[in-house]
Amino acid sequence: MTSADWLASRLTGFDSSGIRRIFDLAAGMTSPINLSIGQPDFDVPDAVKQAAIEAIQKGRNGYSQTQGIPALREALLAQIQAQYGTHEDRSLLITSGTSGALVLAMLAMVNPGDEVIFFDPYFVMYPALIRLAGGVPVAIDTYPDFRIDPAQVAERITPRTKLILINSPSNPTGVVAGANELKQLAELAWQHNLALISDEIYRGFVYDETFVSPVQYYPETLVIDGFSKSHGMTGWRVGWAHGPQSIIEAMGRLQQFTFVCAPQPAQWAGVAALHRNMNEYCLQYKRKRDRVIEGLRDHYQLIAPGGAFYVFPKVPWGTSQQFVEAAIANQLLVIPGNVFSRRDSHFRISYAASDHMIDRGIEVLRRMAIEGPP
Ligand code: PMP
Repeated sequence: MTSADWLASRLTGFDSSGIRRIFDLAAGMTSPINLSIGQPDFDVPDAVKQAAIEAIQKGRNGYSQTQGIPALREALLAQIQAQYGTHEDRSLLITSGTSGALVLAMLAMVNPGDEVIFFDPYFVMYPALIRLAGGVPVAIDTYPDFRIDPAQVAERITPRTKLILINSPSNPTGVVAGANELKQLAELAWQHNLALISDEIYRGFVYDETFVSPVQYYPETLVIDGFSKSHGMTGWRVGWAHGPQSIIEAMGRLQQFTFVCAPQPAQWAGVAALHRNMNEYCLQYKRKRDRVIEGLRDHYQLIAPGGAFYVFPKVPWGTSQQFVEAAIANQLLVIPGNVFSRRDSHFRISYAASDHMIDRGIEVLRRMAIEGPP
């Protein structure tokens, strides 16, 4: 008997061995060209930092109401109403990051044995959280163009299907779902009485078109969002969920008995964040996207992404693990696709990095494609 025997079997849903191996290798890098980071490379705006400092100095350091401080709730509700239109049945909960909202949503809606449809490649947390809630992950393969095929979704719906989880713009592909795809998906959800969760954390980074939320077609959609990416606030842990009142109320009850609330000083900072227009960063990242596409397109099969700050090219040789290990030997850190997928054929580049870093990365990747395996 060892302490490891105390571990619950639900931990089998959390397999991080692939990424751990990469980070172990990366630990030996002296001057890495780091294109692996899943967060913006800009700092939190000064006015936002100042608002947090003031909140702390004014003693706003205790618990807040579980649903969040009224100032942030009111500001967000006004923004949500402006963006998504008025829905009589739309409530809001401030959560501990977008991840906190995802955990609460799964625990609030998924019964053991319920099937949850999501799209492969996927954000790493999705299958783990579905299993944590006792659900059955149903991954729909979207290679090679990473588009949602409503006919394929229709085929995978069974009497056990409970919800569909989508993420646009997507981590790790950067692909933005089109209005038509979303409309058809929303219709399917409506016809089969399924819950629909839309993870919109990269909503602020859409480059070629206007962002479309499935809420437009399915007012019962539960939207998950947060400040982590839009304002570079990943460490501050403030996100939110808005959707049907019955679901938000249940998520609030769960939050009361788990996370309690989002950190109060960071919620005050969130009020300031909503007043800070971040468009300049969207334009910067659009240029970085173009730089990566231009640098790689002759040597890699890739889908030009319309949003987020990721590109997900096909490896020119080997498996994604083999290719990324060779990249690391060249001081370049990117993430193998099998971390985000059942396939092992692509890799994720994050271009939330300086132009100099991006150029160095492109140079290594071009060389690796031309020279082939070591
Ligand atoms: N959803 C997606 C698609 C993400 O990429 C991330 C962060 N990598 C999250 C949710 C979680 O973000 P947060 O920091 O707000 O918990």
